[in-house]
This record gives sequence, structure tokens and C-alpha cells, in this order.
Amino acid sequence: MAGSLAKVFSLEKGRSVTWEQRWHPLLERWVTITSHRGGRPWQGLSATANDDHRPSFDPQCYLCPGNRRISGERNPQYAQVYVFDNDHPSLGATVAPPPPQSTFYRVAPAAGRCRVMCYDPDHQRRLSHLENNELEIVLKSWRHETEMLSDEGWAHVFIFENNGEVVGVSNPHPHCQIYAFPFVVDTIARELRAAKTYREAHQRPLFQDLIQAERDDQRRILIDNEGWLAFVPYFAQFPFETMICPHRPVRQLTELSDLDIQDLAVVMRAVLGRLDGVLGQAQSYILSVHQAPAALIDPEDYSLYIHIQPLLRAPGLQKFLAGVETAAGQFLNDAAPEAHAQALMEVPLN
Ligand SMILES: [Zn+2]
Repeated sequence: MAGSLAKVFSLEKGRSVTWEQRWHPLLERWVTITSHRGGRPWQGLSATANDDHRPSFDPQCYLCPGNRRISGERNPQYAQVYVFDNDHPSLGATVAPPPPQSTFYRVAPAAGRCRVMCYDPDHQRRLSHLENNELEIVLKSWRHETEMLSDEGWAHVFIFENNGEVVGVSNPHPHCQIYAFPFVVDTIARELRAAKTYREAHQRPLFQDLIQAERDDQRRILIDNEGWLAFVPYFAQFPFETMICPHRPVRQLTELSDLDIQDLAVVMRAVLGRLDGVLGQAQSYILSVHQAPAALIDPEDYSLYIHIQPLLRAPGLQKFLAGVETAAGQFLNDAAPEAHAQALMEVPLN
């Protein structure tokens, strides 16, 4: 076990157990923190480590440069980021309308657009391996895709990366996905409602107060630079969960300047490096960009953030979303966010 994490577990076995309900202000529900359970005996499945010994080019990979995809199209010999329409899209721009249903059920065309973005031509790299200038190219592409898909009239652009086998990623080539929806996805809709409710109750912006609360506390802050604050939130639902928030409210990626992107790349690189280092094996995670819908009616209350939800809670141990999480919607986090933020901070960076 990595030294810093061993320290966390030994801390949690002692007097610093955190066993409490913490309010999630963005999703407006309780999260149960049960840090005394983090080191419990485990006889279930072990998660295998991400394979960091892949080749730089895999002739079977449909994302590697020059290879043919299932659609028959051949990837160009791309040198940096490469974006294309998903060959197996969940949402389509020209989906036929479904047959009419009874008056009880509602149905609508599965309209939308699904894009795939390769971060890099090298099959064996990860987002955390990219240099700052390479990360900036990825972030600028996210900004461009958001603008393009919003201009096409889609209501909401959601960017995410499923990383690692335990998340169920279908291809290890470094890539993310970009979905354009005709409506606002559920998590963002909840956050928009929470921001509105908070404004009505406190006459204050929710996201700015959240950032201030983390700043006042200090214990969970990972990095605080010119433009961005990275922290393990007080109400983390996953061990090592991290939010990266801009200091000034920014609704969408399209509002970020090149300088904002430069600062964000520095923060993301440090956060991803620490997540990979803390367990002594590359972390598996879901990374997502929470940004406002294109036509936000009341824009002042929302602020975008990068959300990283890691799936490994200890070396080889996956956090499963079982009965309480999946059926009840009640998250149990077996880690004290303060202790895990400390463990992340102790990871040396390259
Ligand atoms: Zn590949």
C-alpha cells in the first residue's frame, strides 16, 4: 500500500474517525461519510491495475492513427487531438420519430450528437501523462466543440471521460466523449435548481459560497492558482473525488480565455498526477465537465467545474455503487475527505 494512504488508514483507525451525514449543496441530498469502514476486510473482487504497458500503436485499436474504424472510415495520421462523430452513437442527429405511445407514457426521438475526442495519437498515454501545452490543446478543443454544438442548436453539451476498465471503458486509447443533448441532463438540472433555491433563500450565489467555504476551511484544498481552485469537496461521494472550480463564475467553456485555459491545464495536470500517484497505481475515474446549458435563462447563479469521480478507493479495491447508492440514491463514502485530500497533497509531482 502506498505510504500516504497507509497513513490515512492508520489515522482512521485512531481517534480521527469521521462518521456523519454531510449535506451535498449541489445535489441537495445527504452523503454518509463512514471513514472507519475504509480499511475493512474485503473478500470481493479485486480491480486489476490499469495496464500502463500497452504499445504506443495498436493495429487493432479503432482510435489509433491510420487505422480503419467500424464505419469503414480510416483515421488520419493525426498528431494531436482528433475529433469525430461516434460510429455507435447513443443519440443521432437524424433519428426517426418513435411510434406514438399511450397517453400515460412520454416518448421523444433519441436526438442529439455524440462525438469522440482522441487526446493524443499515442495509444499508451493517459490524460495525466499530457504536458501542460498538450492539455491546453485538449481544453481548447472542448471549448470549440461546446461552441460548435451549441451553435447547431443543441440545448446542452456534456463532456466526459470514462477512464479505466473498472469504469467499463471500451477502448484504452486516451479519449473522451462529447454528447450534445436536446435537453439539460439530470445532474446539471439538479445543480441549476439548487443554485436557484439557494439564491432565493440566501440572496447569494451558491457556487461562490461553496468556493469560499472551502477556502475558509483550507483542509481539502489541493491547488489554488490565479484562475482555479481544486479541492476534495466536504460532501465528497467518492474517495479522492475532486472538483476544479474557476474563481470567477464562468457558465460555459466558451467563456474561458486562453489564459484561463493555461491556468486550468496546470491545475488539471497536478490533480491527475496526484490521483495516479496516491494509490501506487493509475486511478480509474469518470471525469466530466459540468457546464450550463446553451440557453440558460438565469445565468448568474451557475458556474462550471471539472468533476473527477475516482472509482478506486484503495489499491485494487473498487468503489461499487451497490444497493444504497443505486437503489436509494444515498452515497456512502468510506473516506474522510480531509484525510484523503491530505494523502493527495503528499504525492510528489514530476
Ligand atoms: Zn489506440
